[in-house]
Amino acid sequence: MSQPTIGMIGLGMMGTPMANNLLKANYIINGFDLNPDAKEKLSHSANFHWQSSAKEVALSSDVIILMLPDSKIIDQLLWGQQQDGIVAHCKPNTVFLDMSSSNPSNSKSNSEKLKSLGHEFIDAPVSGGVKRALDGSLAIMVGGESISVENIMPILKSMGKTIIHVGSGGAGHAVKALNNYVSASGLLAVSEALVAAEAFGIDPHLANQVFNASTGKNNTTDVKVENFMLSGTFNSGFAIALMRKDIQTAKGFIDDMKTPGVFANSCLERWSTAEQRLEKGADHTAMFKFVKTQPKE
Ligand code: NAD
Repeated sequence: MSQPTIGMIGLGMMGTPMANNLLKANYIINGFDLNPDAKEKLSHSANFHWQSSAKEVALSSDVIILMLPDSKIIDQLLWGQQQDGIVAHCKPNTVFLDMSSSNPSNSKSNSEKLKSLGHEFIDAPVSGGVKRALDGSLAIMVGGESISVENIMPILKSMGKTIIHVGSGGAGHAVKALNNYVSASGLLAVSEALVAAEAFGIDPHLANQVFNASTGKNNTTDVKVENFMLSGTFNSGFAIALMRKDIQTAKGFIDDMKTPGVFANSCLERWSTAEQRLEKGADHTAMFKFVKTQPKE
């Protein structure tokens, strides 16, 4: 594929730094977000062209990257109420690259429907958070046909470091949801462990040092405990509502596969309760605050 014009819909916490890395790699971007403040964050580049609607992005782009909250929003955007979504306005042979954390069943269906219309769909969700979106070192898990994935590899390499093609359409989104379920389980376990350690009189900083030097080490102990949890800042840039959505997606996927999911059930229940009881818009690292302050049930 010669240098394609990229459309980018969804320029939030993740979409903006990802777009910045595409601009650094000299791609031309037609961008849109419902929040007009997003425009200013990228207007430093002459290669960034703000569009007045998602439809305008569709009309002018070869590859359309979606970095949106969830599948409901994506399906509405693609197909609209009465076939008036952006698919009706896009160029022939458009490549849709859904980098959001979407539902694998919806993505499988989108992949099949878009293929029947002569377009391509690739799911390429990301992991690594805002920090790795900023420095272009995201992990990207990809679902789609091999030839299509190969064609968009230079685009993915502008945003990520580890790119793994895991299967056909929807497989990337399945692995992403499962990854976040594993990550959320780790954060919940670490929160409960640190609160119990503190109740015994152990300094939680020291307990976490031990975890990091031992087999309890995970992404939470390594990256989140000191920076966002014990510091009390709770500002990692990943909302608890998005984490709950991902665990819910993973649980739905496990149920669909008819494989065991006892722990996934408990994990989802705990994260859902925390989301309801914490302040609106809370960061996912505030799970620690929830565990620390909630009465024992
Ligand atoms: P965000 O809420 O910061 O950004 C989403 C953006 O989409 C917002 O700016 C919003 O205005 C825009 N938007 C919503 N509906 C729209 C529509 N119909 N048309 C145009 N714009 C619309 O969320 P985020 O943290 O950037 O996450 C985006 C996706 O990436 C989610 O699926 C999330 O689960 C996933 N993700 C987030 C992180 C993280 O650390 N924040 C990490 C990995 C994956």
